[in-house]
Amino acid sequence: MSILKILLTGIAVLMVTVPFAVALFSQQPAGLPDTAPDPQIAAAMRDVSGAQIQQTIEKLVSFITRQTLSSDMPASSGKGANAAAAWIQSEFERYSKECGGCLEVKTDEFTQEPGPRIPKPTKITNVYAVLRGTDPANAGRIVLVTGHYDSRNSDTNNATDPAPGANDDGSGTAVSLECARVLSKQHFPATIIFLTVAGEEQGLYGSAHFAKMAKAQGWNIEAVLNNDIVGGDRTPGDTMQDPHLVRVFSEGIPSTADEKQLKTIRGLGGENDGPSRQLARYIASVSTEYLPPATFQPLVVFRRDRYLRGGDHFSFNEQGYAAVRFTEFRENYNHQHQNVRAENGIEYGDLPKFVDFDYTANVARLNAATLASLALAPAPPANVRLLTKELQNDSTIAWDPSPGGLATGYEVLWRDTAASDWQHTQGVGNVTRATLPVSKDNVVFAVRGFDAKGHRSLAVVPLPER
Ligand SMILES: [Zn+2]
Repeated sequence: MSILKILLTGIAVLMVTVPFAVALFSQQPAGLPDTAPDPQIAAAMRDVSGAQIQQTIEKLVSFITRQTLSSDMPASSGKGANAAAAWIQSEFERYSKECGGCLEVKTDEFTQEPGPRIPKPTKITNVYAVLRGTDPANAGRIVLVTGHYDSRNSDTNNATDPAPGANDDGSGTAVSLECARVLSKQHFPATIIFLTVAGEEQGLYGSAHFAKMAKAQGWNIEAVLNNDIVGGDRTPGDTMQDPHLVRVFSEGIPSTADEKQLKTIRGLGGENDGPSRQLARYIASVSTEYLPPATFQPLVVFRRDRYLRGGDHFSFNEQGYAAVRFTEFRENYNHQHQNVRAENGIEYGDLPKFVDFDYTANVARLNAATLASLALAPAPPANVRLLTKELQNDSTIAWDPSPGGLATGYEVLWRDTAASDWQHTQGVGNVTRATLPVSKDNVVFAVRGFDAKGHRSLAVVPLPER
């Protein structure tokens, strides 16, 4: 923001017609709180270990294959999806033992009937751990991290030959486990779920089952972080990989938008402001706060996923949840969905030696910081609306208090319609209505709650109210 723009906005703020409980000149770049980073979150990030992630990925690879159709092999064989699921469960239980039983370790097991890439009835097991929120008024709020532990080789339906899946998606599974290990040492008012699913490579079957279960049971999931291929492939001789960037993909228009909602989105230019997009912006702001940009940062991509690809975040999007995908900056397709072999001097196969464990640790740090920030923060304000009863150049926004009682105040954010991220933040105190001398015709607004320690909720874009 230019100095002139700051001055002009500051003068404009003086004209605001509602009493503000905070200083009028509290404008700051969006996403940067006026309080110091939370030492609790910084401690969790320091605890994330590349060596631990390496151990996890190597253990997952030791099951030879984790292909979903291998679930007819017993876990006792030490090979296949059941053995991997049993080990993941034991790992969650080990973390839980270290925190006095703080994790509820569970499985979501079902038989998938035949369908595309599922030739026969197939047992699919999702394994997850719940770190229940400590505040009864907020424990119903859930943030979730996931990765898929199933793997594949060149043949989608080959359930016996090696499919190491170190990067796809041993790395994402390791992120979920590592977040569980470091965050289970702490307490949060809201609930965090650490999920690992199977069936992804056959068609997102595991995550689809889990997300439908969550929807059917009315779970209030505020955010889903899907990590898939976050190993930071480090093929010898490759100069194009960027170990400082992880891509964050998000849908702009919600998958569940009905005709009426699509009409509103078209009318207002809301195609860049669905809940998943707000989550992506939130991740970027957490990164700015907790990770030195020279070390590591997200590359926010305004797209649901890469070309020709999909992932488990789709399953959650399709049940109406905000969900994004983390993926390394540059993928090497010789090391995904390939039989382990050498041909013409090229090594194929998804092997641990191509994974950059310190890179995956940084991805885990960004995930852990995002989960912790959200689980400590107030719920987003409810029923946020932009009053449009008459033609006015000022803009009045109203909302209901953030459910759960954690919010001690609110901020209005706004940006030019052509800007990608929030450009202005105005603290408005512990109120439920604010009028700003900024024309709603020219900007996009949002509101978020914060608490005394500076934890911010997700931002909510208002709907017009006549
Ligand atoms: Zn994958």
